[in-house]
Amino acid sequence: MINFTNLTTADEIGANSYLLELEGSRIVLDAGMHPKKDGNEAKPNYGLIGAADPDCIFITHSHLDHIGTLPVFQDEYPQAEVIMTEGTAKVGDAMLHNSVNVMTSKRMAEGIIEYPFFTHGELERASHAWITRPYDEPFRTGYNGSVLATLYDAGHILGSCGVLMESSTGTTVFYTGDVQFENQTLIKGAEFPQSGVDILIMECTHGVTERSADYTRQKELLRFATAIREVLEGGGAVLIPVFALGKSQELLCELGRFKEKKLIPDVPIYFGGLSSKITQVYDKLSDSTPRLNPGFRLRDHVETHGLPKQGKGPLIVSPGNIYLVSSGMMSEHTVSYNMAAQVLPHPKDAILFVGYSDPESPAGRIKATPHGQNVKPAGKGQGYPLLCRTECFDFSGHATRSALLDYACRLSPKTILLVHGDTEALASMHAELTLRLPNTRVIVPPPGKTIRLD
Ligand SMILES: [Zn+2]
Ligand SMILES: [Zn+2]
Repeated sequence: MINFTNLTTADEIGANSYLLELEGSRIVLDAGMHPKKDGNEAKPNYGLIGAADPDCIFITHSHLDHIGTLPVFQDEYPQAEVIMTEGTAKVGDAMLHNSVNVMTSKRMAEGIIEYPFFTHGELERASHAWITRPYDEPFRTGYNGSVLATLYDAGHILGSCGVLMESSTGTTVFYTGDVQFENQTLIKGAEFPQSGVDILIMECTHGVTERSADYTRQKELLRFATAIREVLEGGGAVLIPVFALGKSQELLCELGRFKEKKLIPDVPIYFGGLSSKITQVYDKLSDSTPRLNPGFRLRDHVETHGLPKQGKGPLIVSPGNIYLVSSGMMSEHTVSYNMAAQVLPHPKDAILFVGYSDPESPAGRIKATPHGQNVKPAGKGQGYPLLCRTECFDFSGHATRSALLDYACRLSPKTILLVHGDTEALASMHAELTLRLPNTRVIVPPPGKTIRLD
């Protein structure tokens, strides 16, 4: 018997987690925390797993929407084997310790009594039980070792993987996790199985958006460098809001290259906090994880200036500097959010967006505001006139819609489950795949429901 239960609470990119019952083995895929919800609402619906411990859990990568509630899961189901790559374990540890701090501040500021979900000490104990596995080497897990599993490089961030699981009767299930098939700057594109998959569980982040036909990463990088140069030469400062994990390291590397190639002037780059901690892990694993430039260490090539310590007041924006700071969506109480008030009213400065922003996030609000009008990044307060330059660039760590469709069609599995996308993305992928693969059962698994797959 094969069953799939979607443990998320809505069709969205939230607290990703799924239960797969594969011919006698109970397997959980990811243990996310919702990026926009708080307290118990930010957890997956672990109650649906039931009383019996699952045999194992796979963590595909260390973004919090995939690993954020892992210690909560481990507390509930201590017997389950916890499996991930070494990169995910190292980065995940830094991400989760940071998350304890964020949850603790939220408890104090907003009175969310469930926070923190776990303490630093509990996390440390939980992380001792993590089992790391290399890419491309099959190993046994599941009930009585009845599942043969292999982790494949997913090309999304350091350590990211897709998981192939084969049951004792030979049924194969492949879960992509978050995937990027194209090379980024540091991280190589995914190397996924190209055949022999019966059931495909696929992410759909870009399921509805089509990139323009003439896009190339090289052209986009050149456009990015040109914008930075124009702002700096015009006497302004450049604010680049980025996610601390993944985009920060990829773009820091590019800024170093821009300077080497003299595409931008040699100005100070401000960079710090969690992004710096994670960059250290990227550097430490530069020889032992798949890279476009094995052995390349960011710290040896790009000089950066740290951010003021917590409680030392906001970072003062000065002309002629680049600020590569988190968060990517400029969420409240983050460095990029706190800098917005200083940058928005200044015509010489710029905010350069380098990825997706939720429309309700401060970054989303700024993107949607016409130049010259007033913008309230947090929807409260008096707001600021949007007089600085704003521009959007596409350096996504996720596969394009057409790459996802091509991959699914190449595998042509018996069943496809579409996950990790908003409602429109899931519906659009469902419609297209149903058309292209008439012999495949294409399913959008509803949150909270169990689907029989055999
Ligand atoms: Zn991710
Ligand atoms: Zn994700």
